[in-house]
Amino acid sequence: MTEVIRTSAELRDKVAAWKRSGMLVGVVPTMGALHDGHLSLARAAREQSDRVIVTIFVNPMQFNNASDLDKYPRDEAHDLALLEAEGVDVLFAPGVDEVYPDGFATKVSVTGISEPLEGAMRPGHFDGVATVVSKLFGMTQAGRAFFGEKDWQQLQVVKRLVDDLNIPVRIMGCPTIREEDGLAMSSRNVRLSAEERAQAPVLHQQMQAAAGAIRAGTDAGAALETAKEAILAAGFHDVEYLELRTVDGLKPATDAAKPVRMLAAVWLGDVRLIDNIAV
Ligand code: AMP
Repeated sequence: MTEVIRTSAELRDKVAAWKRSGMLVGVVPTMGALHDGHLSLARAAREQSDRVIVTIFVNPMQFNNASDLDKYPRDEAHDLALLEAEGVDVLFAPGVDEVYPDGFATKVSVTGISEPLEGAMRPGHFDGVATVVSKLFGMTQAGRAFFGEKDWQQLQVVKRLVDDLNIPVRIMGCPTIREEDGLAMSSRNVRLSAEERAQAPVLHQQMQAAAGAIRAGTDAGAALETAKEAILAAGFHDVEYLELRTVDGLKPATDAAKPVRMLAAVWLGDVRLIDNIAV
């Protein structure tokens, strides 16, 4: 049985009892509308911890766009059934007032790594992420936290955060889970129309093609430009960025000589999709 907990006080008691018996607690922070990507994190947590908490909180502080927050899919009953099937011990699903009570006045801001890419396109987004993740680590007291590589920059921001603030949690990065046609799973994919859903895999296909070309010696700028044109020709409305960056520091990279990551954010209809792959 997955126990649903809504207050940090109740969660603290639960976790304290586990820790008294020497158990390692794993946490998987999510915003719900769970899919196989999230469940892969829950499975990794199950394998690598004694007790597993999945959190569901659609964090208003990390949305820079009110309509994206409004339209964010929510289905807690369905999510709970999925977590039960994975043997998750606790679903921690606090309300907004529990996380941000009256008088709340703190913001956690990671500089540097959070500034390009998503940080540039979504001002304030990573402050919201860093703040809520810090709170979730405080509330769950977890020893391990599982994050998806799907949000590559977020994973780097969270690693920086726990190092910088000496938060005693080990950050575990887990691979991106994809649909059979290559589209990275995302809660926002349900908002794609049938036509957009059919176009969506072009993003990953073009990223793979560009990565292959770069590895084979094609100039990175030219390969990325070709991919960008093909993505736009396939019906995407905008390519916010499609870039090569160093894997950890996310510094601009111009070729595949060092380990690099290719990261993209694009718009398809009114849905914003992100993806990243190794080059
Ligand atoms: P979200 O609910 O979108 O905030 O995501 C919660 C966690 O699930 C984050 O650590 C994400 O990186 C991870 N995640 C989301 N989609 C995927 C995916 N397709 N594969 C692996 N992890 C994912």
